[in-house]
Amino acid sequence: MSAIPPTDPKSTPPPLPASSSRTLLVADPLFLEHRTGEHPESPQRLTAILGQLESSGLAARTRRLAPVAASLETLLRVHPTDYLERLAAWESAGGGQVEEDTVMSSRSAFVARSAAGSLCAIVDRVLDGDADNGFAAVRPPGHHALADRPMGFCLLGTIAIAAEHARSRGVDRVLIVDFDVHHGNGTQDLFYDREEIGFLSLHRFPFYPGTGAATETGTGRGLGTTVNLPMTFGTPTDTILPRFADAVERLAERLRPDLLLVSAGFDAHRLDPVGNLGFEVEDFGTITRILTDAAARWCGGRLVSVLEGGYHPRWLAESVGIHLQGLIEATGERSA
Ligand SMILES: [Zn+2]
Repeated sequence: MSAIPPTDPKSTPPPLPASSSRTLLVADPLFLEHRTGEHPESPQRLTAILGQLESSGLAARTRRLAPVAASLETLLRVHPTDYLERLAAWESAGGGQVEEDTVMSSRSAFVARSAAGSLCAIVDRVLDGDADNGFAAVRPPGHHALADRPMGFCLLGTIAIAAEHARSRGVDRVLIVDFDVHHGNGTQDLFYDREEIGFLSLHRFPFYPGTGAATETGTGRGLGTTVNLPMTFGTPTDTILPRFADAVERLAERLRPDLLLVSAGFDAHRLDPVGNLGFEVEDFGTITRILTDAAARWCGGRLVSVLEGGYHPRWLAESVGIHLQGLIEATGERSA
């Protein structure tokens, strides 16, 4: 078994570029280096997003942060040492198929660590008051990863790591909202008994990964802080979106979070080859507005979002664009 590399990169916050924007963005070619071969979770997804954010002018309306790898201490809040060692061993062996749906290349563990570290860096800047919100256009996705194994294209529980990082910085309560078309089983599993970290998932059901029934509401002290909104295929979006808004408001009222974290998956788009819950691009704009309104009401506007799924490059890129635009506009900035 190979050890974790001794040259563990420190989680040194990258310098903050001079800009009046209150929205942070991590979107970097580093995240193309997780190579997956013939696979829906491909680097082409991110290539499309990078192109869209530049050509639309949205990237120029943000403050761009350089990616940073998560420290070992940060990862260990969610994943045990033996799993991190297994990831390092798979990576140094050149990768390959590590789970039914999940593949790695020779850089995948580093890229996944960088996804987690970059999300934590955005959280830090938002908690420091340098920005109101931010988005990490990173891959691989994270919300299916379990504490001790990869699952469903995911290696590390990126948003869970960010939630624990925020807690380690003194944040009392964190609300995680997941609108990926798949249930965020990994995130739910990690926080199922936690009263200070709430989790709300909107997803297609029945569907992969099979979890996320409305009856799954947490356990012990965490009872009631997990909320699932399973939607059968064919449910109209004008039914889904008001229910989502109502559920976000009710859980936020109960939890009174200091920070809103968002697992932003765009595979509910009606043309997505993997997901599809009948969404149009504009529906992701509505979802974003629901979330920025909740952040404004409960968290002083503090909202940090991370890319999860979305597998049709064009519609993914357009949906990410409307999401990022919503974050920028929530800070009070308007395009010139
Ligand atoms: Zn998904």
